Amino acid sequence: MIQENFVKNIRAIKSIQLQTDFAVIGGGLSGVCAAISAARSGLKVVLVQDRPVLGGNASSEVRLWSLGATSHMGNNNRWSREGGLINEILLDNLKRNKEGNPLILDTVLLEKVYEEKNITLLLNTAVYEVSKKNDAEIKGIVGFCSQNSTTYSIEAPLFCDASGDGIVGFMAGASFRMGAENGSEFDEGFAPNIEDYGNLLGHSLYFYTKEMKQPISYIPPSFAIKNAEELPRIKNYQLGDHGCRLWWVEYGGRLDTIHESENIKFELWKVVYGIWDYIKNSGKYPEAANLTLEWVGTIPGKRESRRFEGDFMLSQKDIVQQRDYYDAVAHGGWAMDLHPADGIYSKHSSCTQWHSKGVYQIPYRCFYSKDIKNLFLAGRIISASHVAFGSTRVMLTCALGAQAVGEAAALCFKNNWKPSDVSENENIKLLQLELNRKGQSIPRISIADKSDLTKIATLKVSSTLQFNGFNLSENWQILTFSTSQLLPLEAKTNYEFNFEVEALEDTSLEIQLRIALEKRSFTPEKILNTHEYQLKKGIHKITFKSDIALDEKQYAFVCLMKNEQIKVRISDERCSAIMTVQNRINKAVSNYGKQEPPKHVAIDSFEFWTPERRPNGKNLAFSVSPFLSIFEKENIVNPEIRPNPKGETNVWIASKEDENPNIQFSWNQVISFNTIKLFFDCDYDHALESTLMGHSEETIPFVVSNYSIEDDKGKLLKKVENNYQAINEIKFEKEIESKSLTFKFSRNQQNIPVSVFKISLF
Ligand SMILES: Cc1cc2nc3c(=O)[nH]c(=O)nc-3n(C[C@H](O)[C@H](O)[C@H](O)COP(=O)(O)OP(=O)(O)OC[C@H]3O[C@@H](n4cnc5c(N)ncnc54)[C@H](O)[C@@H]3O)c2cc1C
Repeated sequence: MIQENFVKNIRAIKSIQLQTDFAVIGGGLSGVCAAISAARSGLKVVLVQDRPVLGGNASSEVRLWSLGATSHMGNNNRWSREGGLINEILLDNLKRNKEGNPLILDTVLLEKVYEEKNITLLLNTAVYEVSKKNDAEIKGIVGFCSQNSTTYSIEAPLFCDASGDGIVGFMAGASFRMGAENGSEFDEGFAPNIEDYGNLLGHSLYFYTKEMKQPISYIPPSFAIKNAEELPRIKNYQLGDHGCRLWWVEYGGRLDTIHESENIKFELWKVVYGIWDYIKNSGKYPEAANLTLEWVGTIPGKRESRRFEGDFMLSQKDIVQQRDYYDAVAHGGWAMDLHPADGIYSKHSSCTQWHSKGVYQIPYRCFYSKDIKNLFLAGRIISASHVAFGSTRVMLTCALGAQAVGEAAALCFKNNWKPSDVSENENIKLLQLELNRKGQSIPRISIADKSDLTKIATLKVSSTLQFNGFNLSENWQILTFSTSQLLPLEAKTNYEFNFEVEALEDTSLEIQLRIALEKRSFTPEKILNTHEYQLKKGIHKITFKSDIALDEKQYAFVCLMKNEQIKVRISDERCSAIMTVQNRINKAVSNYGKQEPPKHVAIDSFEFWTPERRPNGKNLAFSVSPFLSIFEKENIVNPEIRPNPKGETNVWIASKEDENPNIQFSWNQVISFNTIKLFFDCDYDHALESTLMGHSEETIPFVVSNYSIEDDKGKLLKKVENNYQAINEIKFEKEIESKSLTFKFSRNQQNIPVSVFKISLF
């Protein structure tokens, strides 16, 4: 029993002092990725999160689906899903939670952090105080956990603010901005008219509904709005919509989104309960009789507040022109996506989204404060203009940048550097190498890894696919959309493509060969060749010969143009780095088949050619000659781990007939190593929304599940079964010595040949 007598003085609450290498504030996807990346690179990390679970806006408390460059597969960013740690998390989530239950994602994130022995996780702990060593450096932070009534004082040489509002940066005195820049500052045509459109994006609050077996009545709380039918947005509501499909329930962009956040939330509760009252009691939704509210958010999703200034501020032109930077460490590819500040009450459309033609780089200099010398920035607060923030703010882009922060923190700690020191030319290469080793795939930054022992090996493979097309299946597809086979073609080669089509009546078919204007996107804007075929009703074999060859190797689009009177034969075969795209519409990302922004916004007009998700998305059945030698074994030892617009597939694929695909490395003398890394095809093209959306598969069908590794004596070093991850890192306790290494792969599916992007050995 504890019994304490009266004391005149105030009692002190329990206080714990922590000294660490790296303190991360905020446990959204950004904070989680910064913390784990640093911890895996050897730093002791304290991760402080003011709420009960991790994930921030992706958590079960808010329930947003995480998005990134793949943009719901609705733009032209092929093979652009974020790699490395966040991809590992998405693949774990897919394996356990393909239905998109936000509660399961919570556990995936908690487990990931829990498994890192270098991380001390403080949940329910809100940071509210910052102390400084000098004007330009943070000494420590203090947080309070209301659940165990304890204050934590944390000191570290390096900090990362991933708190969304930038609580640490703000208190430490770092330069920041809140609200939109004037368009002239960064020459941004898309900068909003502040009076009319507004300054800031607002908060949103979601609800989930559930179908019961009997009618459910509903009495709203007295504070619910009574006029939901007058909301300009209410026409957006479709019965059954819940969770992040209600993103348009937005408010607060004209208020102080930090200090008035609780008021904004209360207004959103009024709206949410008012909408539900309208649905249940207006008589306009009789099908809602058995529906009940299953969950209503209590913490609003906050879109925008402070953005901090780094040594570089990303802006519209960097995104539109896909500008290259020496210090790129991450990529983005979501649209520049701004919302009217009046949200649900606005007369404007709920959002305005403009895409760039391909992915853009994010320089490292956006990820630290220009003033506070030991403060990294991660998440939506990074150094970007309001317009660029409209794109960088999505969670997978945030997480990818945060991985770079975690890795940079490890470099700083080991070398006694400040964050800005990493931006120096030679240092940044160290960071980029380390990131690409971990699967970051920084676009257009390829760094050879000199310490990789596969570089000095002789490489033999059991077979290599000489690609000559996809076999016919029984199935046909009507050309409702213009449909294109996306293929990497060689320069100076005239190809011949054969398709099988059925004309449902006498008609004509147009086939085009297209390429991107610049080899930095998969936007098929330049038409090289067009042929028109007059077809009588019936089945035809069509041969399309490209009269004009490509000047340089690159991905090209063989496009069968839309005609609903024509069916084309499709294939059940799939293979890494080759796919079909269509000139489709995807309203979820403002893709109406083509984007045509008004001239003054200074953003390109172009068409969207996008894939359909599996299982429906299929390749066309066709043959190509000469065949494509694009899956050569040399790809296994190059630094790249995904296809790029230059026409480099970067993947080795075994032949379709090879039932025992294998790869062998051999050396002239015995070499020793303790780490093997394999990079498989996790289909970087497929968007893996974490919540609500659901996916048809729990593993990516291109990933090799089962394989074994043997040394020069045929001794089994490792047997792997049921792998579903993109990167397998195999560490041996003792150094292995061998003159050769053989990898034996099993095939997962008969219609997909085995593929490997890369193997590294250290
Ligand atoms: C309604 C809405 C819809 C959106 N739609 C999408 C979408 O569909 N897909 C997508 O990817 N992105 C979407 N976004 C954008 C995205 O959710 C945010 O930009 C992103 O979450 C920012 O990541 P973050 O890690 O910076 O912040 P957060 O995810 O907000 O994480 C920050 C974390 O820091 C914690 N924190 C804050 N203050 C403190 C403190 N003092 N001490 C300790 N911890 C603290 C918070 O609790 C939070 O968990 C949307 C945003 C909103 C609001």
